[in-house]
Amino acid sequence: MQAAINNLVVSLPMPIFLVVEDVGWWQGMDGSANNEPYRNGFTRRHCLEDYRALTRLAKRLKMRIALGMVLGEWDRSNLLKDVVGATWMGDSWDNRINQGPWLDEAAEFLRENQDWLEIACHGLCHEFWRDGRMERSEFHDRNGRMRPSDSVKRHLDAFAKLLAEYNLPGFPRLFLPPALHHSFGNGQDSMQAILHDYGIRYVVTVFSRARRYSEPLHEKITWECGIGLLERGLAPVPWHEAAASPSWDFSNSILPLHWSNLLHPDPATSFTVVDRWAEMLEKQANSMEYVLAPDFASCWSQAAVFNLAKLTAGEGKITVDLGPLEQVPEFDGSIILKIRYPPDCTWQCRGGQILSTRKDSQGIQVVVLRRLPGKAIVEIEQS
Ligand SMILES: [Zn+2]
Repeated sequence: MQAAINNLVVSLPMPIFLVVEDVGWWQGMDGSANNEPYRNGFTRRHCLEDYRALTRLAKRLKMRIALGMVLGEWDRSNLLKDVVGATWMGDSWDNRINQGPWLDEAAEFLRENQDWLEIACHGLCHEFWRDGRMERSEFHDRNGRMRPSDSVKRHLDAFAKLLAEYNLPGFPRLFLPPALHHSFGNGQDSMQAILHDYGIRYVVTVFSRARRYSEPLHEKITWECGIGLLERGLAPVPWHEAAASPSWDFSNSILPLHWSNLLHPDPATSFTVVDRWAEMLEKQANSMEYVLAPDFASCWSQAAVFNLAKLTAGEGKITVDLGPLEQVPEFDGSIILKIRYPPDCTWQCRGGQILSTRKDSQGIQVVVLRRLPGKAIVEIEQS
């Protein structure tokens, strides 16, 4: 979305944000043929280096990326034996195979790197076991019907306990439905109502794969019960493709990858894999159309701006109308603009406070501003 006055061109770029799902397994193998979780279909166990690859990518992008974590294999006191449906072993759950010093090492790493890696809730073991048999998926069945709220809460409580056992940050604010089985649009009866009580503020999923009790308020962004839902779009590479080559059509704000896509069977080589993804994203983001969001909250606010705000040019100025964002939960009032103008031109802004400006490698100015309290209109004009 762009508007121009003379030589001054302003755009509201689409935010780009990276979500990595299925982080947290220790076993690599896809167990789905044996009544075990799908996991990552990886040729080896996971290790600390696999987390280091994620921070390398995050730092390179200057983005606090989100990790859709499954914590079942982090269970060192076998507490999941008391959580009905959580594992394939039921009440004889025994996680000894995954208990070792790597748990505390990885937890320490996640704590130390929380400015780069944001834990999102993706479940305990991703699926649900009814009478010992696996069903997709943990919180909703494959028809998008939410499991009984008691069951949902027991699983979320166990997720919180596992976080606490490792002194990891409090309950996440982002929820990524496992296997894209989810539902929305039924207000107080919805999963969103439950998630909000746990501190979740955002859900990222594919709207067309969810059961929709009422249609989303907008094509790619909707909300209910104080929770924002953002369209995820389809993953550009299969979930079990290790060391995937970068490719993506940039059709949605979220780039959804799976852990194994970014990992190499030789852990020391994963850096070369993530560097290639970073290059692709950086290249595309140096444009008027896109901007890399520094974290999910910023992505959400900018996605609301991109999808809902009105950008117009006329009477010698460019106007951003934030009126349509009135009801959007968690909108922090910030707007990212990209401005292109010749060297002899300067500009000024009314209705917003400029928080930061920088130039990207293409000479485009990236401006972060915050609307002034009570103002829905921000104006840019040549000065
Ligand atoms: Zn998943």
